[in-house]
Amino acid sequence: MTLHIETPLIESSPLSVITGRSVWLKLDALQPPGSFKIRGIGNACETYLARGACRFVSSSGGNAGLAVAYAGRRLGVPVTVVVPETTTERAKELLQLEKAEVIVNGASWQEANAFAQSLIGTSDAFLHPFDDPLLWQGHATLIDEVFRFGLKPDAVVLSVGGGGLMSGVVEGLHRNGWSDVPVFAVETTGAASFHAAVKAGHTVELEQITSIATSLGAKRVCEKAFQWSRQHPIHSVVVSDQSALTACERFLDDHRILVEPACGASLAVAYENAPELENFSNILVVVCGGATSTIDQIRDLNGH
Ligand SMILES: *Cc1c(COP(=O)(O)O)cnc(C)c1O
Repeated sequence: MTLHIETPLIESSPLSVITGRSVWLKLDALQPPGSFKIRGIGNACETYLARGACRFVSSSGGNAGLAVAYAGRRLGVPVTVVVPETTTERAKELLQLEKAEVIVNGASWQEANAFAQSLIGTSDAFLHPFDDPLLWQGHATLIDEVFRFGLKPDAVVLSVGGGGLMSGVVEGLHRNGWSDVPVFAVETTGAASFHAAVKAGHTVELEQITSIATSLGAKRVCEKAFQWSRQHPIHSVVVSDQSALTACERFLDDHRILVEPACGASLAVAYENAPELENFSNILVVVCGGATSTIDQIRDLNGH
């Protein structure tokens, strides 16, 4: 038994018609805590519990924190999530719904994270949102499921924040013998830390995050994500916030699933039939999901 579920893999009629290609959707928005994150975080939590952890600590007010809260509740392990003062009421409510202890501390994530680190005792496990081999190993199950389904895509489109999802998906491609399948790594303008790393030839720290796609807002990607860019065909793609928001609205109309702009960024590549897709006919889009948006907020940010 795992904490994540095997999610549907469907061919999108609307997106296939728009692009003139087969567009397949891996619907990780349907994971119980709302995003793919439970794959890796579930794997890490189960491992840390087996090693004797008595509490899980997170400093994410987003989908990583939600996944830790969900995993802790399912495993019967108490969870503490430290979030900054900027965290929305909705995010705090979602965490409390999963019975996590929510501590508000610090003006920014840096300070909340520092406080979270100071709480960690010898029997606590800290769950990083994207930089942990146990996370990548868990995220790789997404590709195992596609492999078992019997579909070999000729390209994979996914979103990149800190690069945990991408590191896991590429690990999954390799462990299933698909090391030739290229990956399109999508970010929004103002959160493009992977794009900056590829350009510089090493990981770099962005001065600030200006995109509304908060789940992509890691200032620096993990080293592993950068390393993969040298060992696997990975193409960086940057889309605007507005493209991501519009994709969220269209996806809700087309597939009746609400996702965050972080996920809309990948969907935008398909909705806009981006030139990058030109040579591909069987495209897998990772619908990574996200539980922190409402449709009112998305419409509002998109100016209507
Ligand atoms: C965390 C997250 C991402 C980015 O994943 P990384 O592993 O940080 O690259 C993208 N979309 C959603 C919805 C997320 O929760």
